[in-house]
Amino acid sequence: WLYTRMARHLFEKHPPNLLMIHLVEVDHVEHKYGPRSPEAYWAVSYADDRLRDIVEAIERSPHRDKTTLVVASDHGFFPISKDIRPNVILKQSGLISKEKKQAYCLSQGGGCMVYLLDDAKREEMKEELKKKFAAVEGIQAVLDQDEYTKLGLPTPAEDSHAPDFWLSAKSGYSFTNSDKGDDVVTPRKTPGGTHGYLPDQPDMLATLVINGYGIKPGTNLGKVQSIDVAPTMARLLGVELPTAQGKPLMPALQDD
Ligand SMILES: [Zn+2]
Repeated sequence: WLYTRMARHLFEKHPPNLLMIHLVEVDHVEHKYGPRSPEAYWAVSYADDRLRDIVEAIERSPHRDKTTLVVASDHGFFPISKDIRPNVILKQSGLISKEKKQAYCLSQGGGCMVYLLDDAKREEMKEELKKKFAAVEGIQAVLDQDEYTKLGLPTPAEDSHAPDFWLSAKSGYSFTNSDKGDDVVTPRKTPGGTHGYLPDQPDMLATLVINGYGIKPGTNLGKVQSIDVAPTMARLLGVELPTAQGKPLMPALQDD
């Protein structure tokens, strides 16, 4: 509410060339209560009300005929009721102890990065651990280099922060970093939601609606990539984005 009030004020008093607002409630509430929960529907409805505030501010603005509105989200959600704790497997395999870590799993919701820290044993550990993880309840895929590079993820040679391989969970499951106890899969105290799963699943898809100046009305863009949104906005603003990997969404744009 405060952010949209500020946006309205800016529109009226100091019209900017580019104004970006993050409506935070939908992500926050869906993490806490899960998608399609009563709370999630409330959050979406609330975000819609805030969007109305912005649309009304545009309509009142003297710059309305030169204004483009872009509504974008960057991921979907799966509900979660169980945690997967891959570090328990590393502990049981003797790769994590109080004194030493030879491997570590870093969790990111529906995805998990597996780092192998012992250079001498890397390939041997990798094959053994891939088999162990593939057998765990709730793990959908174990992604080695040839699979994760197809998703646009970097290799350790390209990025020193990149893991040796990735794990991806099924809907209903989320990774955590804990290595306490001996249960690899545990029920969560409260259900919730998260993202970071394999992106080709319909529930993971995001939203993009563009309207206003420079946009061809009624165009269905089908599936597009998030990295194309900023180049499209740059094109409308008449500025260059020379380092962008995406391309402007030309079918949406009116011919100049
Ligand atoms: Zn989130």
